[in-house]
Amino acid sequence: MPITPEDTVRWIRRIAVVLHENREYLTQLDSPIGDGDHGINMDRGFKAVIDKLPTVANMDIGSILKTVGTTLVSTVGGASGPLYGTAFLRASMATSGKHELYEADVVHMLEAALEGVKARGKAQPGEKTMVDALTPALAAMKEAEQQNAGLARLLRRGSDAAEAGMKATIPLLATKGRASYLGERSVGHQDPGATSSWLMLKALADTCA
Ligand code: ADP
Ligand code: MG
Repeated sequence: MPITPEDTVRWIRRIAVVLHENREYLTQLDSPIGDGDHGINMDRGFKAVIDKLPTVANMDIGSILKTVGTTLVSTVGGASGPLYGTAFLRASMATSGKHELYEADVVHMLEAALEGVKARGKAQPGEKTMVDALTPALAAMKEAEQQNAGLARLLRRGSDAAEAGMKATIPLLATKGRASYLGERSVGHQDPGATSSWLMLKALADTCA
């Protein structure tokens, strides 16, 4: 079964719940290598998104994701607002007019989102950012698509790969964003943005399980 607009709304609602539950955790992760606001930023952003959702709930998937993107850009400060805002806006362009997303559409959507993050933030894999969770997730989803694994498994493999990528940020030296100001002292800490990226992809896999 494909992802529908109703699933998309459930996914976004789930993200809001999960980010709220993980507000302290994300903020703790952002304290040693940032300014301790990542959980606050993401929670604020998705609260605003939830307020806007009723206006788009009956529209196509692209319209729903567009509202998420524009709301994040306008309500979340810091690096993550424009980056996630761009990700959702690119995802919305990739799903414009669609009421059903199949495996290839999901891969296309994540690919567009990741390209948007990279274009906006100029980070490449290995720089200790959200790119380090999103890149392996996309690779795992592409592989699952080629193997005709089915949508639920594709989403789960993507989420699991994002989790592994998130954990793999711990030994990395940050060279982008606030964490880069710490140089060598950024080593040994898990990246907060990679963590929120995993949580969002896990929310999608859980929604469509
Ligand atoms: P800020 O760093 O402005 O306080 P947040 O704390 O909300 O913003 O977000 C920090 C996260 O943003 C980092 O953990 C990292 O994953 C991500 N990030 C920062 N700069 C970049 C970048 N140039 N490219 C990709 N991701 C980035
Ligand atoms: Mg921060």
